[in-house]
Amino acid sequence: MPDTCDVAIVGGAAMGSSLAYHLVADPGFSGRVLVIEKDPTYRRSASALSAASIRQQFSSPVNIRISLFGIRFLRGVGERLAVDGERPDIALREAGYLYLASEGGARVLEENHALQTREGADIELFTQQALLNRFPWLNAGGLACGAWGRSGEGWFDGWGLLQAFRKKARALGAGYRAGRVVGLEREGSRVTAVQLADGERIACGAVVNCAGAGGRELAAMAGLDIPVFAKRRSVFAFTCPERLEGFPLLIDATGVWCRPEGEGFIAGVSPGAEEDPDWEDDDPATQEPDWGLFEERVWPALAHRVPAFEAIRPGRAWAGPYDMNLLDHNAILGPAGEPANFHLCNGFSGHGLQQSPAVGRGLAELIVQGRYITLDLSDLGFERVRANRPLRERNVI
Ligand SMILES: Cc1cc2nc3c(=O)[nH]c(=O)nc-3n(C[C@H](O)[C@H](O)[C@H](O)COP(=O)(O)OP(=O)(O)OC[C@H]3O[C@@H](n4cnc5c(N)ncnc54)[C@H](O)[C@@H]3O)c2cc1C
Repeated sequence: MPDTCDVAIVGGAAMGSSLAYHLVADPGFSGRVLVIEKDPTYRRSASALSAASIRQQFSSPVNIRISLFGIRFLRGVGERLAVDGERPDIALREAGYLYLASEGGARVLEENHALQTREGADIELFTQQALLNRFPWLNAGGLACGAWGRSGEGWFDGWGLLQAFRKKARALGAGYRAGRVVGLEREGSRVTAVQLADGERIACGAVVNCAGAGGRELAAMAGLDIPVFAKRRSVFAFTCPERLEGFPLLIDATGVWCRPEGEGFIAGVSPGAEEDPDWEDDDPATQEPDWGLFEERVWPALAHRVPAFEAIRPGRAWAGPYDMNLLDHNAILGPAGEPANFHLCNGFSGHGLQQSPAVGRGLAELIVQGRYITLDLSDLGFERVRANRPLRERNVI
């Protein structure tokens, strides 16, 4: 019997599994959901390689609202995603983000803080002296101010969240199928089936592109050109002999970030646009961490900002793919328009894990009810991309 489904979700990591869960949990939905995932180990998915942190400190209202929804969801994951009485534990730690700004960046930080506060985020603004009082391990030289999330920001077990979504979605009836989507069949303005590399064809009522770094390729199969490119991002682990109490996720004025992980820390920075080659799924050389970044940018900046980090011991490192939306560094969500039943869930540009609860829910509402109900995500629609009207996000890490 050929397989068929009402909604085919291509890519079964955090986004695909969150959407699958929200669809099958929706009392208004009675169709069949099939998640098609080319690599069920998720070894190279961004969700498995993520720094898995959540912040409210964005510069656009829709992103702040998404993360306010996200933190509430993450706090309640144990109950909401329990299966047969087994409650997942994603080890959520709300230690805050600490954004630091020099004189040049102070105005933007203050503007963002005012917006975040208006939206209901719990962010405190510090002067240079107040930073020193609150974070005594910091070298505040060259800083004008900083903003720290008193609550609602921190980090969690990203792998645990992906697995919890997946397990719950399956328990409620979503199907998962190993396979790589290599083509889409169309009749007029509708996709009628997805074709898999193993030759199988799965008839479907709608398709959702949750393919992460493979999202551009999948969109091209639907005849769409989306400005989303897979970019390598490296994460470096290290330990520090000194104990630094209450260390948050620190974002230095240089753009270097760092946060506690286990007994040590992890850190990274975005390379400049001119040294930012694409991550190629079938080329392992593009997936190696960029150690040069650690030596030339990450460690020097951290050792300057936190003098205790002069004596660190470097550990392992890894790299993962950011699905970068080069138009405006924001997600592209919802119907593509043409084909009429093809939906986008792409371009998260490094903040998709924290957005997976709200985005999964929003897209499920859109598919089942034809509109957003819990949270209006229409600012992130494809229309702005077609119209070349960027919704710029100033806080990209
Ligand atoms: C180093 C790093 C640090 C990050 N830090 C953070 C952070 O601190 N906070 C945060 O919120 N976000 C962070 N992110 C971003 C976040 O991890 C991603 O935005 C999010 O995980 C995207 O989830 P996804 O399900 O859309 O994509 P992915 O997790 O990449 O999953 C896509 C899936 O689609 C599958 N697939 C692709 N093509 C096909 C096909 N043709 N057929 C079938 N299957 C296919 C892939 O195998 C993959 O499993 C980070 C990312 C990286 C790489």
